[in-house]
Amino acid sequence: MKTIIEPFRIKTVEPIYFTTREERAELLTEAHYNPFLLKAKDVIIDLLTDSGTGAMSSNQWAGIMRGDESYAGSESFYRFESVIKNLTSMPYVIPVHQGRAAEKILFSIEGGAGKYVLSNTLFDTTRANVEYSGAQGIDLLCPEGKQTALVAPFKGNMDIDALKAFIADNGAASIALVIITVTNNSGGGQPVSMANIKQAQQVCKARGIPFFIDACRFAENCYFIKTREAGYENKSVQQIAQELFSYADGCTMSAKKDAFANIGGFLALHNAELAEKCRNMLIMTEGFPTYGGLAGRDLEAIATGLEEIVQEDYLKYRIRSIEYIGEVLDKHDIPYLKPTGGHAVYLDAKKFLSHIPVQQYPGQALCCALYLEGGIRGVEIGSVMFGKYTDDGSLIPGVHELVRLALPRRMYTQSHMDYVAEVIINLYQKRHEVKGLAITYESKYLRHFTAKFKEI
Ligand SMILES: *Cc1c(COP(=O)(O)O)cnc(C)c1O
Repeated sequence: MKTIIEPFRIKTVEPIYFTTREERAELLTEAHYNPFLLKAKDVIIDLLTDSGTGAMSSNQWAGIMRGDESYAGSESFYRFESVIKNLTSMPYVIPVHQGRAAEKILFSIEGGAGKYVLSNTLFDTTRANVEYSGAQGIDLLCPEGKQTALVAPFKGNMDIDALKAFIADNGAASIALVIITVTNNSGGGQPVSMANIKQAQQVCKARGIPFFIDACRFAENCYFIKTREAGYENKSVQQIAQELFSYADGCTMSAKKDAFANIGGFLALHNAELAEKCRNMLIMTEGFPTYGGLAGRDLEAIATGLEEIVQEDYLKYRIRSIEYIGEVLDKHDIPYLKPTGGHAVYLDAKKFLSHIPVQQYPGQALCCALYLEGGIRGVEIGSVMFGKYTDDGSLIPGVHELVRLALPRRMYTQSHMDYVAEVIINLYQKRHEVKGLAITYESKYLRHFTAKFKEI
């Protein structure tokens, strides 16, 4: 059969509320042209993030009822721990309330002034936690990853030569750790190959540098390895994931991504001494080591989610729904980051709105235009998120100006995707009407969440 259907049936539904274009124009002004400041009920198709927005299965909901809420030694923790140990073979499993809490704990201990954290691309919260500790985050993305229109199988890879050169120039002692993000979220949801993971690990091992994985989308990454990397076609995604984790000294994970949970995360480690330090910090900031920042019911939902996420009929449907939007965009020559990644379509705002200079934030402008046109909410991944200023206050732009349309897991159907494609096509035809934006308010860290804008 040619048609790939959603491998689930719908048991509970939530209404979508419709708004008119006039209403959306008003709502956008009230939200200061920042879709983060819109109310969710005013959004028709919410592609702001795939984080914590997925639909849980009947088994996960059953787990919610089963959750053991004991303060210490909860059964739900042991189930959570055993699923993660089986996946990662890491003996120390530390539950946290979400991914950034794992980052905060890890970098408070391993970061600090004068140190570097090297990555293929650090996610925004990871970078913020690295920098907050005083350390510097350095992205060493492979050259293919920097060309948005190039089709290559593993555009999320780390540049191994650049990694070696950076360590040679700065000394291994100054490198707190190397962390590879799978899939590379800020780099377009592009996968990292097993070969690249192995090479990075060997470089680190030879120089005594800890090697970590930011595992938020490990299952999507492993499905790409299965379908794109020679030698993995006959292995299960679970086996591929076990191999991937086997190369790492530790990992951070947001269970809001590839664990189908609404909240949660973990830090898993091999090193007993580091685990001890992390747990001490955990008790201060999150909670007792057998619940971290979570309720017992959350631990159950995550444990079940981690078992469901590696199911291949699910991953096939997941990757295909995103590819499908890409194919429709191709038919209309609409610029997006190619090939489509694991969890999102990334529109290339620099090309889409080529009349808007980067100083006027074309990505943010495109986000706002998509909302106005069809009530779709996406997120800017460009100079609002990653821009910096020189000492004299001029903008140092981000590498790309992208708009990420992230698909919540198991939530929208094919007709929702057809609607999204139609809105993008309509907007593309009148793109010259879209205006640039100027920032009127911003915060020091993670400014994209709360910044305010006005139209130019
Ligand atoms: C979401 C995400 C994080 C942070 O996780 P939260 O649960 O949102 O705190 C870290 N890294 C990557 C790659 C992510 O996508």
